[in-house]
Amino acid sequence: MRSVTLPSGKTVPCLGQGTWTMGEGPSARAREIAALRTGLDLGLTLIDTAEMYGEGLAEALVAEAIEGRRDEVFIVSKVYPHNASRRDVAAACERSLARLATDRIDLYLLHWRGSVPLAETVRGFEDLQHAGKIRHWGVSNLDLADMRELWSVPGGAQAATNQLLYNLERRGVEWDLLPWLRERGVPVMAYSPIEQGRLLRHRGLRAFAQRHGMTPAQAALAWLLRREDVIAIPKASSPERVKENAGAIAHRLDAAQLAELDALFAPPERAVPLEML
Ligand code: NDP
Repeated sequence: MRSVTLPSGKTVPCLGQGTWTMGEGPSARAREIAALRTGLDLGLTLIDTAEMYGEGLAEALVAEAIEGRRDEVFIVSKVYPHNASRRDVAAACERSLARLATDRIDLYLLHWRGSVPLAETVRGFEDLQHAGKIRHWGVSNLDLADMRELWSVPGGAQAATNQLLYNLERRGVEWDLLPWLRERGVPVMAYSPIEQGRLLRHRGLRAFAQRHGMTPAQAALAWLLRREDVIAIPKASSPERVKENAGAIAHRLDAAQLAELDALFAPPERAVPLEML
């Protein structure tokens, strides 16, 4: 498994596993746990969750899936913006730790920007780091103006990642945010990497995948993984789909294939030149 280096020097796999909506339906539980465990076996050892997902149900499912394997896993969880004050983030983190049945979260993110000043959330994250409750902290859904502001507050430049909506159909971040983050050595975590499944129905992508001996999901993921600074976190609820998605690692897209995808998904005048990637 190729890895991506966080600003701290810690390496994480370039492909992880999402958990949004997992743990919410009792009938799917066993399959979802089997899916996450299959992912761990295949090296998808970064698991992304949040206190928001099923109001803790996803975190509890993760705890069950990783039981006995905690040290293999890099757990990412997220705090609600309304819990992101210096005091409240400590309590929210304790609740997440209890649901995750662990004593530490590897990467704790602000889920999106709310009304709490960024400086205060950073202080809260730093407290948690000093107490050994979290190893790294980062943000999600912050735009360029937010990131500039974050970099201006004390300790703000220690953010380990910005988790963003980024996939073949959602490339807006390539113009401003991704270059800014790359300059600062901050990797991006790409959420909804297959556009919540919708990309798999794209006729052009399906034809592309067939021509090149991969599945549409693998093509969409391999496209994201063309960048060294992207971690993709697809969510799949069955071992078969996890295996399929993990197979994306084997496909390194060449320049001609990337140009084909640019032609399908970005009008030529908006396609980002290869040397910028
Ligand atoms: P994804 O783009 O990962 O798509 C997930 C959907 O695609 C599910 O319905 C899944 O079905 C289906 N799917 C996955 N693999 C395959 C496959 N090989 N073949 C067919 N269908 C497939 O969307 P998400 O929005 O879930 O994003 C991934 C993760 O990113 C989330 O789970 C969450 O952890 C995180 N996220 C973070 C956000 C944020 O604000 N920070 C916002 C949204 C997501 P099934 O599950 O039935 O297998």
